[in-house]
Amino acid sequence: VGGTEHHDFDVLVIGAGGSGLRAAIAAQEAGAKVAVVCKSLLGKAHTVMAEGGIAASLGNAWSEDNWKVHFRDTMRGGKMLNHWRMAELHAQESPERVLELEDWGALFDRTPEGLISQRDFGGHRYARLAHVGDRTGLEMIRTLQQRAVALGIKVFMECTVTELLMDRTGDEPRISGAFAYWRETGRFVVFKSPSVIMATGGIGKSFKVTSNSWEYTGDGHALALRAGASLINMEFVQFHPTGMVWPPSVKGLLVTESVRGDGGILRNSEGKRFMFDYIPEFFKAETADSEDEADRWYDDKENNRRPPELLPRDEVARAINSEIKAGRGTPHGGIFLDIASRRTPEFIKRRLPSMYHQFKELADVDITAEPMEIGPTCHYVMGGIEVDPDVQVSSVEGLYAVGECSGGMHGSNRLGGNSLGDLLVFGKRAGDAAAAYAAGLGDARPGVTDEQLSDAQRTALVPFDPATVAEGGTTENAYMIQQELQQTMNDLVGIIRTEDELAKSLAELEKFKQRAAHVLVEGNRQYNPGWHLALDLRNMLLVSECVAKAALARQESRGGHTRDDFPMPDPGWGAKNLVLTLDDTGAGVDLAEKPLPQMPDELKKLLD
Ligand code: FAD
Repeated sequence: VGGTEHHDFDVLVIGAGGSGLRAAIAAQEAGAKVAVVCKSLLGKAHTVMAEGGIAASLGNAWSEDNWKVHFRDTMRGGKMLNHWRMAELHAQESPERVLELEDWGALFDRTPEGLISQRDFGGHRYARLAHVGDRTGLEMIRTLQQRAVALGIKVFMECTVTELLMDRTGDEPRISGAFAYWRETGRFVVFKSPSVIMATGGIGKSFKVTSNSWEYTGDGHALALRAGASLINMEFVQFHPTGMVWPPSVKGLLVTESVRGDGGILRNSEGKRFMFDYIPEFFKAETADSEDEADRWYDDKENNRRPPELLPRDEVARAINSEIKAGRGTPHGGIFLDIASRRTPEFIKRRLPSMYHQFKELADVDITAEPMEIGPTCHYVMGGIEVDPDVQVSSVEGLYAVGECSGGMHGSNRLGGNSLGDLLVFGKRAGDAAAAYAAGLGDARPGVTDEQLSDAQRTALVPFDPATVAEGGTTENAYMIQQELQQTMNDLVGIIRTEDELAKSLAELEKFKQRAAHVLVEGNRQYNPGWHLALDLRNMLLVSECVAKAALARQESRGGHTRDDFPMPDPGWGAKNLVLTLDDTGAGVDLAEKPLPQMPDELKKLLD
């Protein structure tokens, strides 16, 4: 295709967050020629926003901690729907990955003995999160980026992938590269590569209230689906319990779980510390049942049980939702999160510097002096591209997936800190495997045809063509559809779901899809955000359909999926996953049930 830039690599990594960078480093170290392509500037990926820390059983705070306890916590947090092998590998390898990060220059907070400091987070039995104040993601990205650049990995930034390219000439289709455009010029780029690693992050921008950045439009999920891969666990969306509710300038923004780990508590409008009313049977044995015991735990963890504010996120988010629904919310429809009355300003500023500065600057809220008004915010998608647990390859040859866009590791609910560990552990594994696969191909590398590139280009340019988009209807505006989609997902596929609402959401999504075909953009290809959104919308709609369809099918409540009409977990559903694939029309998805992989007996024993 004339005027299109072409590049050849062994391994192409799509995404420059923690998972993409870690994968790229591994692949380059294994001898592959590697490129990273990302939508935003290098260093600006979502990972940079991570606050609390990286979960790894280093045993620095508690010598009793080890991978077996971490494995147990992860499986219990995910309500047993996690792929056991991923949870096992993650628990076993995250300490090594954290120490390696330190070797590469990451400056973690220290214990008085000079070891890496570890902090408490919900669902983790021991203080386990290696952290850098509440700016852990920034340090992680800085370190990985520095290493990637030092290794000479080529980075294409502000460059968005719109299609994966496939070689369909053999018995099985194989990945052969990716098609992209430069955000600034709108010119097209072709990356030929036999290995492609998806590391594109999450889907949160399909919801109105979210802690996620603008990049989270589910591109990787949708691109992989279109290439023939499957998605699992898509009904499980994590609503973080503590997003800011007020003032509007910070609505949805995350208040890190560390605020509760460091002493913050939740109160309703009557001043009641209500979490004691919401301790589920499953966690009763390890949760304090009185305020006295909960408060003693901060100083004496050995002889007291954890405060209920530190239950896994799904439990806390549901409790907050119930309090608000029962009319005990704050004036702006949230709940109070109070650390101001429990810790000194010095302590708060030292332990939570970003929280303090962010809310002071953006909202004039002083968290050392007043409680915050918080409520659930769409935060993380447990669902993603189905991969082999050891080498992260999808069902499509040459296509790998890591980080938030992959599925399986977190089951129905992710524990805080387990994402950053996931990025490092599986980033390395995917990078190693993708490099080995490319090296093993020798001359038998997949090809790209001119016809494919013309098709990809034509598809990307459709929104500029009035004749095509106006056919059979009036033209539409991408921003309007996006806004309505976000509202629909919030209202009908949000934290509490019902059959009627989910069915309605699917009908709405169908209408959005039809309208999206008529989106017309103005102007030209040079830095045109309207055009970028028109292309993102396709992905947002496909992924939203996956979430709604799986949520409608799963008739139980588990982890990040709560059905008002099926309020309890159901052992039958607990034995299976829901898997989504592209349907024959290529515009929708099919859903199938799949039994969970069998966990070996020696691991089952660890769960008691
Ligand atoms: P990201 O870091 O999101 O990177 C995605 C990359 O893909 C970006 O570079 C983007 O530009 C690129 N991309 C996307 N689409 C395209 C496309 N079409 N073409 C080209 N490039 C594309 N987890 C923890 O474990 N501990 C924490 O303390 C923690 N704190 C958090 C705090 C906040 C506020 C938030 C929002 C999340 C937090 N999380 C935390 C979750 C964690 O940060 C994320 O799950 C994780 O960083 C995702 O990393 P990733 O590598 O999968 O993707």
